[in-house]
Amino acid sequence: MKDFFNHGDLISVLTTQPIDRCLDYKAPEGGCFLGAFLEVPFGPRKILGVVWGPGKGDYDISKIRLALRVLDAAPMRAELKSFLQKAGDYTLTSMTTMLRLATRAPSLGDPPSMRRVYRRGTKPVVQMTKARAKVFDVISDYGDSPFTLKELSDLAGVSSSVVIGLKKIGALLEEQTPRDHPFATLDPSLPGKPLTQAQSTACDTILELLRKDRFSTTLLRGITGSGKTEVYLEAVAECIRQGQQALVLLPEIALTAEFLKRVQVRFGTLPAEWHSGVTMTVRRRIWKMAGQGGVQLIVGARSALFLPFRSLGLIVVDEEHDQSYKQEEGVLYHARDMAVLRASVAGAKVVLASATPSLESWSNAQSGKYHKVELRERFGEATLPELRAIDMREQELPSTRWISEPLRTQITKRIATSEQSLLFLNRRGYAPITLCRACGDQLGCSDCDARLVEHRFQKRLICHQCGASHPIPQTCPSCGAEDRLAAIGPGVERLAEEATALFPDARVVTLSSDMFGSTRALKQEIEHIAQGDADIIVGTQLVAKGHNFPHLTLVGVIDTDIGLQGSDLRAAERTFQLVRQVAGRAGRAEKPGLALLQTHQPEHSVIRAILSGDEVGFWNAEADAREVAAVPPFGRLAGIIISASDAEVAFDLGTYLARQKVALQSIGAQVYGPAPAPIARVRGRFRVRLLIKAAKTAPLQKAISEWLRQVKLPNDIRLSVDIDPQTFL
Ligand code: ADP
Ligand code: ZN
Repeated sequence: MKDFFNHGDLISVLTTQPIDRCLDYKAPEGGCFLGAFLEVPFGPRKILGVVWGPGKGDYDISKIRLALRVLDAAPMRAELKSFLQKAGDYTLTSMTTMLRLATRAPSLGDPPSMRRVYRRGTKPVVQMTKARAKVFDVISDYGDSPFTLKELSDLAGVSSSVVIGLKKIGALLEEQTPRDHPFATLDPSLPGKPLTQAQSTACDTILELLRKDRFSTTLLRGITGSGKTEVYLEAVAECIRQGQQALVLLPEIALTAEFLKRVQVRFGTLPAEWHSGVTMTVRRRIWKMAGQGGVQLIVGARSALFLPFRSLGLIVVDEEHDQSYKQEEGVLYHARDMAVLRASVAGAKVVLASATPSLESWSNAQSGKYHKVELRERFGEATLPELRAIDMREQELPSTRWISEPLRTQITKRIATSEQSLLFLNRRGYAPITLCRACGDQLGCSDCDARLVEHRFQKRLICHQCGASHPIPQTCPSCGAEDRLAAIGPGVERLAEEATALFPDARVVTLSSDMFGSTRALKQEIEHIAQGDADIIVGTQLVAKGHNFPHLTLVGVIDTDIGLQGSDLRAAERTFQLVRQVAGRAGRAEKPGLALLQTHQPEHSVIRAILSGDEVGFWNAEADAREVAAVPPFGRLAGIIISASDAEVAFDLGTYLARQKVALQSIGAQVYGPAPAPIARVRGRFRVRLLIKAAKTAPLQKAISEWLRQVKLPNDIRLSVDIDPQTFL
């Protein structure tokens, strides 16, 4: 394809406007490259676009407008273009929407704004003081890179007047440089931690793959605390040595200060952080530097996959089984799968790390599609915790208590020895149900098919579907009875109340995503806990994710059975992963850990597998069951969710689609439904689901788009397609 267009040539431009095609323009003055980011006129507005190819010329030539200018950004590479196209085809997302994902940084077209920086000057310093010497030490340490006043004085630990003084005598130069400047250089030659035998074997295998000139995916499976992070940091080092860029994806990235520190120790400087918690200026800087090669390592949330990397060499997906990698709103994509896709297009390498891999990755490793590397032992003295079940049928607990006697005894012991205990309950709020004792009514959301959850800490009733919240009423909204509302069942807040009552002298801390005003506060709390500033931690799944609490030696899973109810395809897998993960928080340092699982069904196969630690046995059994049912990863599923403000309208469309299924039948796919979605109403809209099931190799996306082409959606109806659905709500 032609890769440069002269002024006035017809070009096809992809924009982020919600129109499902590219638009023709004339190349701007000075011409433009294929992939160039442009500003183009659109009605009365100016919008962002990318040169996608030569113009189609299927539009009245006299009406075609001239593109305004080429923006100051590296043109989109063929690799990213191809990735966006493939990802769009896979998720059935329009290219305009895909482009929006790839340009999620502000004012990309603005000319670079300037800032004042300081660097080494030419004049010698006659009067060298301690403070002045510190300034020059820092400058040498960072290879003479420019600093802002604040950076330089902070790093040197001197007041800004020292820096200004040096400028006045010409020993430092003051300059204006563009704000979007490169990130500090990482030094892969700094010594990493000496690896154990097992770690270095694992590491060698991965490095060998990294040195090959072709795309590959490796599943790095290692029990919690075995040193997976140490191993993949060496892969990052190799990638940087090769002059390529690395991306590490983490769930809950905003909370993982610990990981950033480890990067700093290993490479001498912090990586770039990409997630919703960073400023727009930083986002823009990362976006630009990714394209110019001014950033070597980005640690990010899933959307970092769409950055315009100049030479992507490695993507690490840590905790690859984590459910939060599936984007459940807007473009429905799975970051793990998209990471593999992007790397395959870029010729890069992928490392998927987990103690409890997803069945998808596990079976890809079994079949040889992925390489597999394993770490079977915890690092150092640490051993895996002992796991025991507590049969709750034998515990005679009153209905407002959830901490059994055996668990209580163990907590008491931990408090005596200044060790920490974690009580895990995957339920936010105080109580999941608020019931009127007079009329029996359960308080529900007026817009959703969901109960209101009491959050006593915030003094509100909250709908976990739509977020609507109300003050806690004194009287029943249904029958008007006064003071008859009762909290039923436990949430973490209520569990913390029980823990405080049982252990009045203990420091009880609740960790739940809604309990802290800001990510920063939550992050701080996690650090305090790691330092030992708590005796009992009560937490939701937030605590399951990769945090290192060295003083923690006891984990009590309050309700191990929670996730096993319901008909979700992945109920067993998720419970297994989550409980093993949480149990793995105990005993990560020298002292051995114990995990107690409170359950009403200790004989359940999943609970037995968790206790026995027979992971391979569990996955084999789970894989067999899924293979028989021909469901993922042995078959393919797609969910269709239709929503409308009128239930009947949604149903009618569902029924129509279910009947007109020739396109799907032609690939041997089956259609189930329509059925009301398990959460049949959200934000006042009724939701109907269809489920499509096909063989693993069937061209599912193509058939679905053909099938959906038969209908033109009325304004009020929304239809979304969820390829490889992870939840069925
Ligand atoms: P994982 O990612 O598998 O849970 P980590 O990489 O976090 O494991 O390692 C667990 C703990 O052991 C961390 O505190 C880590 O710093 C430490 N560790 C692991 N390997 C080594 C090593 N080779 N030398 C020193 N410390 C190590
Ligand atoms: Zn609601």
